[in-house]
Amino acid sequence: MTATDTSISLPTELLPKDGRFGSGPSKVRPEAIHALSSLAEDYLGTSHRRMTAKNQVTRLRSGLTNLFDLPDGWEIVLGNGGTTLFWDAASFGLIENVSQHLAFGEFSSKFAKVVQAAPHLGEPQIISSEPGTHPVPVEAAVDSYALTHNETSTGVSPSLTRPSEEGLVLVDATSAAGAICWDSAEVDCYYFAPQKALASDGGLWLAACSPRAIERIERLTSGDRWIPAGLDLGIALTNSRQNQTYNTPSLATIFLAAEMVDWINESGGLEWAEARCRESSNTIYRWADERSFTQPFVTDANQRSPVVCTVDFDGVDADVISGILRANGVLDTESYRGLGRNQLRIATFPAIDPDDVSALCACVDYIVESLR
Ligand SMILES: *Cc1c(COP(=O)(O)O)cnc(C)c1O
Repeated sequence: MTATDTSISLPTELLPKDGRFGSGPSKVRPEAIHALSSLAEDYLGTSHRRMTAKNQVTRLRSGLTNLFDLPDGWEIVLGNGGTTLFWDAASFGLIENVSQHLAFGEFSSKFAKVVQAAPHLGEPQIISSEPGTHPVPVEAAVDSYALTHNETSTGVSPSLTRPSEEGLVLVDATSAAGAICWDSAEVDCYYFAPQKALASDGGLWLAACSPRAIERIERLTSGDRWIPAGLDLGIALTNSRQNQTYNTPSLATIFLAAEMVDWINESGGLEWAEARCRESSNTIYRWADERSFTQPFVTDANQRSPVVCTVDFDGVDADVISGILRANGVLDTESYRGLGRNQLRIATFPAIDPDDVSALCACVDYIVESLR
């Protein structure tokens, strides 16, 4: 990269109104920030055991129940530590002995590693595929199937189908929840953190649990297995039923997530959110198909994510482009660090305006033209 490269100044009229395109933490809607700020003096800095805070947990839990159209008996459970901590908790409170994992990128592989390292669990079955594709689960003698609704590191999104009547289906939906439709008949535990499609901040995990998942949690957490209290899903379940968390949560994270869920529900629900994301992602994939210097990384169009778009570049350095974008206030378009490709990764979550996505494509065109 030369000094002149980063000094390319993008014409103001080309720039997106909001320059946040990161895949997580992702754009938080300014409307939600203003709502938090106008409530802040009566909310932030107040007890999470009192009604003011508990009402926001109630709002978030019932909003998610509506958003996912959950049948009777399902419950929204929550706790601190984000998805990564939930994997640890699941290794104690959801996996009984042997699980099957689909590993097709950084995040889906990480849960498999947690389980491999757990001394109280059997050796997991791991089915892998090349980054940019996804494998399919295989019916087997396992008690849990670990799927991922959107592999954020590669931009691959499988549809969710129950592989077997036996075994719980556990789905990491961290970057999908609130943006991609799913059918509760195919899933037992749909877990996520709210700093991605739900346009909030990090540090919290949430899990929509079927009656079968709740039965498993209650059984494993009341048996002989030693479980650290902070990772005990039985304790999390008891607290969630009282609209609390076991220990102090980030009240801002809870409020911003509840705002986002209400906004999606009021705008037309999950189908509306997915359509909006698909409008944005189609803009990017179409643009990448049409340009001579780009192509979508995920070759099978059916596996392409509607919320995390990965675009390979040919003959032009993608890091130079993301650097110039960053210098112009258009942020976090860099490829996932571990993937090692000449690539941009652009989030198209519900909070991101489809017009801003079109503007981003125009900005990249301008940069490539200028570099030639
Ligand atoms: C971001 C992400 C995670 C990790 O979430 P944390 O809240 O940072 O622990 C896990 N899985 C997927 C699919 C993700 O996108």
